[in-house]
Amino acid sequence: PNAIEVREAVKRYGNFTALKTISLSIKDNEFFTLLGPSGCGKTTLLRMIAGFEDVSEGAIFLYGEEIEGLPPHKRPVNTVFQNYALFPHKTVLDNVAFGLQMRGNSKADSRKKAGEMLELVQLSQFANRKPSQLSGGQQQRVALARALAPQPKVLLLDEPLSALDLKLRKAMQLELKHLQRETGITFIFVTHDQEEALTMSDRIAVMSSGELQQLGDAREIYESP
Ligand code: ADP
Ligand code: ADP
Repeated sequence: PNAIEVREAVKRYGNFTALKTISLSIKDNEFFTLLGPSGCGKTTLLRMIAGFEDVSEGAIFLYGEEIEGLPPHKRPVNTVFQNYALFPHKTVLDNVAFGLQMRGNSKADSRKKAGEMLELVQLSQFANRKPSQLSGGQQQRVALARALAPQPKVLLLDEPLSALDLKLRKAMQLELKHLQRETGITFIFVTHDQEEALTMSDRIAVMSSGELQQLGDAREIYESP
């Protein structure tokens, strides 16, 4: 089955309709981007895919299973946010290890796996530092390592690069793309930045005012008016 199947999903907050009947499929191993201006409903859709919010109508399926019926620990989905939300008092290594321990891995196994993840994002030499001793880009890579460590099938990324300066953002775009290819994890990436979307994505869903405007591969989106 597809990684994600959004079937005629509607989201209302009171009498305000944030999403108007969205249908789309996201393939396994795909780098998929939700692109559109602030307020168009990207985060709302991402939060519904994560199971943080219920749909008002319709349904969302994760590898063929309806998300609302899955208990949280059975959703192989992890999320990376714009503000990295690292634990300030834990070391970089323990930030990454913590989630693994919470999932029932032993402390030793968790730290070993965390070390491997830090290698993947090239932060091994910072393992024993506190997050505040790292740059913004490095902190975001710690957040990525933490999100990837439990090997989710789907990673949701909500404007993860928007707090970074332009140079770092460009470097991280390439790194994210590389990580997606290397891990084979389905990435669902949210951005309002068209160039960023075109650089990174296999396919792009363009949203506007709670509606899906366009869906295609990066080249098709780029060439359309
Ligand atoms: P985006 O991520 O594209 O910036 P959002 O999904 O955050 O857009 O928001 C889409 C619309 O839904 C906005 O108009 C926002 O104000 C509204 N919205 C989002 N969450 C809520 C909420 N919990 N209650 C009421 N309105 C909300
Ligand atoms: P984004 O980064 O996509 O612009 P926001 O900062 O708008 O996200 O929203 C952050 C959080 O606030 C989300 O959980 C969203 O659901 C909630 N939110 C957004 N708009 C509203 C609103 N009008 N009323 C209540 N909650 C909202």
